[in-house]
Amino acid sequence: MGSPAGVTGRRYDPDVALSVPVSLSPSAVSAFKSCGLAFRFSYVDRLPEPPSIPASRGTLVHAALERLMLHPPPARTPETARAELDRAHDELAEHPEFAGLGLGPDERAAFHAEAAELLDRYFELEDPACVTPIGLEVKLQAEIGGVVVRGIIDRLELDADGELVVTDYKTGSVPSERVEQQRLAGVHFYSALCERVIGRRPARVQLLYLSKPEAIIARPTDRSTSGLERRTAAVYEAVRQACYREDFRPSPGPLCNWCAFKPYCPSFGGDPGQAVELRVAAAEAEAIAAGAPPLFTTSELSPA
Ligand code: SF4
Repeated sequence: MGSPAGVTGRRYDPDVALSVPVSLSPSAVSAFKSCGLAFRFSYVDRLPEPPSIPASRGTLVHAALERLMLHPPPARTPETARAELDRAHDELAEHPEFAGLGLGPDERAAFHAEAAELLDRYFELEDPACVTPIGLEVKLQAEIGGVVVRGIIDRLELDADGELVVTDYKTGSVPSERVEQQRLAGVHFYSALCERVIGRRPARVQLLYLSKPEAIIARPTDRSTSGLERRTAAVYEAVRQACYREDFRPSPGPLCNWCAFKPYCPSFGGDPGQAVELRVAAAEAEAIAAGAPPLFTTSELSPA
């Protein structure tokens, strides 16, 4: 490996056909395991995904929850959350992610109502006045299994015993028990990043699914951490080999219904070479929304 922490972008190696990503994120690892071709589009070719209603709704709800936590505990009420949602919604209107959806007034009202419903359900999961956040949208980067891994934690907090807790909000559907462990992989990555960067292993990692609502909770252990290291090293080696061979194959499955690259997928009659048009569409949307303010204020933690 040898890529120092802090380096981002792509490494160009004359011995390999495609440039190997110099780092991975939890979502990149998950994408590679699900479908090699979708991974290549996103993380090797770096093609932008066209805006989608579920993704934009998730962005909006995450922004409202982040802002809710910036209020003093007694003020973290459903009314404050709704006000923050309205504010985030107005700001999101200028962003390429939302402007590109092309929603009419009725569709926009429905979009907002669905986001508000998810936010209301959040209050059935926990009382935000009892949460002690120490970081929101926290960017972390460290080596795991010899691979540079980057991640952004929705919320890092302290529990009543002063132990670290990693929380990830989810606005999609709750997974079946069969794939629950796979969905927890992302927060286990965040736990490992905390261990490397802060020097403490979180006592708990949790996924808060707002749609049901339901919390899925796990406790990181020596075993889960070492297993993660082994799997990360194996995935990175598989990515490296796939780049060398230029061999990223489609893997059709249930996720294809949500795949932004489906029109370009040979499994569905598409031409992968046409996917570059996504870059043009994204550049046009960015030009329209130039100067829009950032929705999130990310923070970075330094090694202890
Ligand atoms: S449509 Fe399915 S098989 Fe094709 S790239 Fe997307 S996830 Fe992979």
